[in-house]
Amino acid sequence: MKWSGIIQHYQRFLPVSAQTPIVSLNEGNTPLIFSSYLTSVVGLEVYLKYEGLNPTGSFKDRGMTMAISKAKEAGAEVVMCASTGNTSASAAAYAARCGMRCIVLIPDGHIALGKLAQAMIHNAKVIAIQGNFDDALNLVKEVTSQYPVTLVNSINPFRIEGQKTGAFEICDVLGNAPEFHAIPVGNAGNITAYWKGYKEYKAAGFATKLPKMLGFQAAKSAPIVEKRVIPHPETIATAIKIGNPASWKSAEDARDESKGLIDAVTDEEILAAYKLLAAHDGVFAEPASAASVAGVLKLHKAGYFKGQKGRICCTLTGHGLKDPNIAIKNIGNPISVKADIHPILKEIGF
Ligand SMILES: *Cc1c(COP(=O)(O)O)cnc(C)c1O
Repeated sequence: MKWSGIIQHYQRFLPVSAQTPIVSLNEGNTPLIFSSYLTSVVGLEVYLKYEGLNPTGSFKDRGMTMAISKAKEAGAEVVMCASTGNTSASAAAYAARCGMRCIVLIPDGHIALGKLAQAMIHNAKVIAIQGNFDDALNLVKEVTSQYPVTLVNSINPFRIEGQKTGAFEICDVLGNAPEFHAIPVGNAGNITAYWKGYKEYKAAGFATKLPKMLGFQAAKSAPIVEKRVIPHPETIATAIKIGNPASWKSAEDARDESKGLIDAVTDEEILAAYKLLAAHDGVFAEPASAASVAGVLKLHKAGYFKGQKGRICCTLTGHGLKDPNIAIKNIGNPISVKADIHPILKEIGF
């Protein structure tokens, strides 16, 4: 079957009509990869929803195809977002595709190089502000409320609509919803979207159950866990370095309605999961993405899954190549030897 993106495929679940000009890069339809390693550790079947394989390398494309298509339908000429990187990469690509201007506010010096390169190459106007993501989002709200510019951050409701298709795809592959769904939480749009997706798919008869939603924030950027705004969030996982999530309340609803939880994982736990995914499963996801797996491993150690059966899906939100510097920094550089067979054999251990 030809795949033409999430709007084409799931239009009956999305607020689009025959008049909506679909702006798509054939996003979605990402693989749900069985992890034999994590399954052997945790004891339940673990699957990885590898969202790094979307056109711009993160799940943001699912929401952006909706947000940009609806902006186009409404006659918008300029879109704007605040971004820790992936939203800007996605907004820039989709805006380029339909001839819109795109303006991006990023926190100065705190965005992965690959993401910055994407926004620049797709011709967005990128402005680095001397502040953090939360400051950037406030400024975007200010501009878009006063000028003819459409906001495409995840407070744009069409973003959530597009992102919920991740849950649909999981149900389509597994034949039902999983028992648990683990997901990184930054601005909390995606946990909101998945929960909405699971509920709608069940209501439509495509699933008979709902998963417990397991959200994970980074330890020093965990406002929902700590029940307070974090003015200066810190973590190596820049995509979830957010101190005041826009979808705070709906993330709590997802947690409570699903009888799940939102917990924090340390940078050490995130990096360990990041390396483990690459080394044991051959899956390279960015650090923020690994928070879902770090969280599952933390819960496993605490005995949370004891006596439980079924399947755990972990959303791996973005591709590891977005941030090659952090990989090299944590693994190191290759060994350098003379162009001669002997030192090579010695290194191999022959
Ligand atoms: C945006 C993003 C997140 C956080 O998603 P929210 O919807 O803001 O909670 C996590 N990981 C990656 C790679 C992202 O790009």
